Amino acid sequence: MSIFSSIIAREIPADIVFESERIIAFRDIAPRAPLHLLVVPKTEAYANVVELAAGDPALLAEMVAVGRELAAEHADGDFRLIFNTGANAGQSVFHVHAHVLAGGLSEGSLGQE
Ligand code: AMP
Repeated sequence: MSIFSSIIAREIPADIVFESERIIAFRDIAPRAPLHLLVVPKTEAYANVVELAAGDPALLAEMVAVGRELAAEHADGDFRLIFNTGANAGQSVFHVHAHVLAGGLSEGSLGQE
């Protein structure tokens, strides 16, 4: 079971900001921006965004829509959506998730700092 599945099952605590039938979102425990949320499908069938796009593109589209709604609710509506894909790109949890970063982001940066 992934750490995110443990959060979904309420086995470990998280600051959950959104939940629907197929998606959950909560604050990243180590925020890299004033708003740093993780948008996570409840299924752990997909390790990364490439697998998700191939296997369930509608669920990927739902994640993007949730990210947009949460950025509007918790910041000014503009946001950066990051899918780290592979360990060498910084992925540490192999249960697909989108980082939603917003609020006071530095201009032009592609990183999470
Ligand atoms: P990644 O490195 O792209 O796989 O992202 C994993 C993210 O999960 C990191 O930004 C971590 O800070 C975050 N994270 C790990 N454990 C937890 C947790 N228990 N609650 C909230 N966020 C977490």
